[in-house]
Amino acid sequence: MRMGIRKIIHVDMDAFYASVEQRDDPQLRGKPVIVAWKGNRSVVCAASYEARAFGLRSAMPAVRAERLCPSAIFVAPDFTRYRAVSKSVWEIFKRHTDLIEPLSLDEAYLDVTENKTGLPTATMVAGTIRQQIREELSLTASAGVAPNKFLAKLASDWRKPDGLFVIQPEEVDAFLLPLPVGRLPGVGKVTEEKLAKVGIKRWGQTFLADKAPKYSESSVRSMRVALGLTLGWANNCRWLEKNPRTRVKLPNRTGGRRVIRTVLINLGASERDCTETQRAIRNLGSVSRSIWIAHR
Ligand SMILES: [Mg+2]
Repeated sequence: MRMGIRKIIHVDMDAFYASVEQRDDPQLRGKPVIVAWKGNRSVVCAASYEARAFGLRSAMPAVRAERLCPSAIFVAPDFTRYRAVSKSVWEIFKRHTDLIEPLSLDEAYLDVTENKTGLPTATMVAGTIRQQIREELSLTASAGVAPNKFLAKLASDWRKPDGLFVIQPEEVDAFLLPLPVGRLPGVGKVTEEKLAKVGIKRWGQTFLADKAPKYSESSVRSMRVALGLTLGWANNCRWLEKNPRTRVKLPNRTGGRRVIRTVLINLGASERDCTETQRAIRNLGSVSRSIWIAHR
């Protein structure tokens, strides 16, 4: 059974905390700004794009950031203010859909398969949201539009900052297959290097790997575990991923071990969770009609 294709937008505010600081203090505009407490144990909460030009990134030790960019202006984080701005962004989202899944103060998935304003396409909804954020809050956001959350998140990163990128359902393979494996969430430097050693550099190669003996089975498996997906997964969740809440309705009589597994991983479960859950389902199997699984 095929459910309709979903239209998901991932909205990600650009350098959020730093942008709020630059917006509210004109003296900070155009300058490298680091939102962080100074000190040995402090890390960067956000860096303006001017600071990123020096190689600064979020979560980097503040000491290191200071060394990389001595001219940077440190601003102490003010989460009360960021939370208030985040609420205003949320209000804008709410005009378009009630199906919102926040990821953090500056990121959210929106299911706009049906939207509240009657705009004909998800791309227009994303464009309108970006415009409203810009006009009403004087901030920029990047957005990705795609048939599922995973792809929408990749897409929002594609034209960052202040960008919009759309992956139409029929473009999914053309987008995914040539992608360097390192671009995928969950693939860090270590996995990337392991894969490069066996000649896997692009996402598309991982699907051929099954049939090619030159790829060690364990490297492919470890990558899949790291990613929690396969092309089959991407295709499956196009249909299975019901909305941006962590709830998935499986088609009736789903028995496939792999389908259930990929759905669980999509919900954020670890491999171990999957194994345990599947064991529990098997034990219930013959007596239950339907099973709800909550992943916390
Ligand atoms: Mg962001």
